[in-house]
Amino acid sequence: MHPTTQLLENARERVTFPVGELTKLLYVNDEIYETFMKAQKIIANEPTIRNHPDYHNWSRKQQIIKSYEKLRIMHQHFNLANAVHWAPLLSIFQGTTPTAVSFAMTVPALRFLGTDEQFNLWGPKFLTMEIVAAYAQTEIGHGSDVQNLETTATYDPQSNDFVLHTPAVSAVKFWPGELGFLSNYALVYAKLIFNGKNKGVHPFMVQIRDNSTHKPLRGVTVGDIGPKLGYTTKDNGYLAFDNYRIPLNSMLARYVRIENGQFSRHGNEKISYASMMVSRQLIIFIYPRMAAQALTVAIRYSITRQQFTNDKREENSVIEYQTQQDKLLPRLATCYGMIFAGIRIMQLVDDNFHRVQKKDFSTLQQSHAILSAVKAFSSQWVVDTTEWCRLSCGGHGYAHYSGIPAVYFDTAPNVTLEGENQVMYLQVSRYLLKVLQYAEKTPEKVPFYFTFVLHIKETLANKDLNTSLGHWLKLTLTIQLIQVGKRIKDLMNTGKTFQQIWNEHVGIHLLSLAQRYAEYFIYLVFQEYIANANPSVKEILQQLCDLYCVQTILDNPNTLIESGQITQEQLKSFNELKIELFAKIKPQAIGLVEAFNFNDNALRTCIGCHDGKPYEYIYDWATKENSVNKVPQAVIDLMGTKIKAKL
Ligand SMILES: Cc1cc2nc3c(=O)[nH]c(=O)nc-3n(C[C@H](O)[C@H](O)[C@H](O)COP(=O)(O)OP(=O)(O)OC[C@H]3O[C@@H](n4cnc5c(N)ncnc54)[C@H](O)[C@@H]3O)c2cc1C
Repeated sequence: MHPTTQLLENARERVTFPVGELTKLLYVNDEIYETFMKAQKIIANEPTIRNHPDYHNWSRKQQIIKSYEKLRIMHQHFNLANAVHWAPLLSIFQGTTPTAVSFAMTVPALRFLGTDEQFNLWGPKFLTMEIVAAYAQTEIGHGSDVQNLETTATYDPQSNDFVLHTPAVSAVKFWPGELGFLSNYALVYAKLIFNGKNKGVHPFMVQIRDNSTHKPLRGVTVGDIGPKLGYTTKDNGYLAFDNYRIPLNSMLARYVRIENGQFSRHGNEKISYASMMVSRQLIIFIYPRMAAQALTVAIRYSITRQQFTNDKREENSVIEYQTQQDKLLPRLATCYGMIFAGIRIMQLVDDNFHRVQKKDFSTLQQSHAILSAVKAFSSQWVVDTTEWCRLSCGGHGYAHYSGIPAVYFDTAPNVTLEGENQVMYLQVSRYLLKVLQYAEKTPEKVPFYFTFVLHIKETLANKDLNTSLGHWLKLTLTIQLIQVGKRIKDLMNTGKTFQQIWNEHVGIHLLSLAQRYAEYFIYLVFQEYIANANPSVKEILQQLCDLYCVQTILDNPNTLIESGQITQEQLKSFNELKIELFAKIKPQAIGLVEAFNFNDNALRTCIGCHDGKPYEYIYDWATKENSVNKVPQAVIDLMGTKIKAKL
């Protein structure tokens, strides 16, 4: 057997748990798993869309053309109305997926905020691509602060329609995906001006390009915003209106209406959160799986990569070095927790979705808070983890051929889009403070994943050294919540306004608090999974969860130290436990990444393939697949000319 293949095979033989049992947990149900496997196979076997080693040498235009080929194939094989069917493609294909914004952002908004008639009018046209619609909210001057958007939709009582207008450069819509050249419609968020009064920001379904020529309609300026950090195939765009008339029916009218010249509101406006939840939950569900790709590459490579000799004069696989384990194993452990949290959140959002449709808003705020916390936490974690995976592969990790830089590029925007992370965290902390008040006044209102606020005294008093590791996460969260609550109260007594305190005095504490909540939520879900898992994988899952907790405590011990809740001895014991867990998890690492079941093409790698021959594939790709080696004529001409250099 090839020597590096042998190294991987030896590692596989040391795995002691049934890998397939974990695969079942990671993919929720047979439908999701089979769709994912089918997607991997289709992409690998279809020459036009197969992930290509030379992809990163291509021009942006070439990459975009390939992504449209993908769209055609997607239409043949997947049910685009069902996110479960197309979502797997987001993680295993080179470049972003055209129409993902249209389906994941615009369609849910239409379903939640439009009337049934409006949904029936436009909804079916998405499936045939008669309509592809960008979600056009952000403007050059405002993104996070939606209420201050400047685009106006002025109601004209004479013609019973709206005039859509961009009053300044800062009001130009900027960044919406698929706006640059794909969309013929846009869901435009604009300030409704009715009888001269601002009635708030509302969504309008607007045709922007001609149905047959695809050219911008008169009064519409639209195009692509230009190159970005990665994300090459997504046509993020700009859009401006010059007194552009749109029909009355353009305004999504489930909650606000203009009828017989009268403006009225209906139901609960918080509903708009519910539509954002659909796309945010996809970020949590999909992208930690891309970190799992980077981890698969890094762990396989770390087993096959050998540097320096050991006592027996044999070369060491780099995975044997403790520092290499420190780069990868805690992240592998967290990856499991993150993926379980993503699945649980999908279930919470689904449940909330059904309630909201029946006008039951009881779970809306808590689902929004959990979703926001984990969206922010997981999106940053994916980027950080990918960077560590790259570093763990040394020089070869820096090459696109490793497959890792592309994961970084494709996931980096998630920190900003769909709610900028820090802004999300602040919303979470606002909710946590509210839940703290519930605990004091109306404990029956405290939702399930927040019940830690009902046990504050017991948590602070618990001095049991054998307590679960999760206790320390709960304790840190509890202390930070109490401290922030008290800090705000004390500052209010000095005469400062709440807004002043929030913006200028407690921001970093609020941020930390929300992060601690995300960590604790992931722990709770991890525990649920362990409790319900097949006995054959309980032990490995518990080890992963323990490593996740220990690393989390060691990353942020300040709160526990400052409050005197932890002794130096305890902290030391966590460091020792971490090293013990490394020894237990390292031999299982190959099984843990292969439970994800990515094929080589989906990993887009030459250093982390299943048969582990990194050097042959690296050399092969560099020499045979690298189009730059067809030396451009300009270089040949230049080198053929004698230049008189001044030395
Ligand atoms: C790749 C990509 C795709 C996108 N796709 C779409 C799309 O399809 N449709 C769409 O409408 N938009 C889209 N956007 C825009 C995106 O939603 C916004 O960029 C995002 O919401 C952040 O808003 P912003 O750019 O205004 O950042 P800002 O809010 O200006 O943030 C700048 C900084 O200010 C800080 N900050 C802002 N407010 C506060 C506060 N209250 N307290 C403390 N700190 C604060 C932030 O933390 C950040 O550090 C996309 C963006 C990207 C990068």
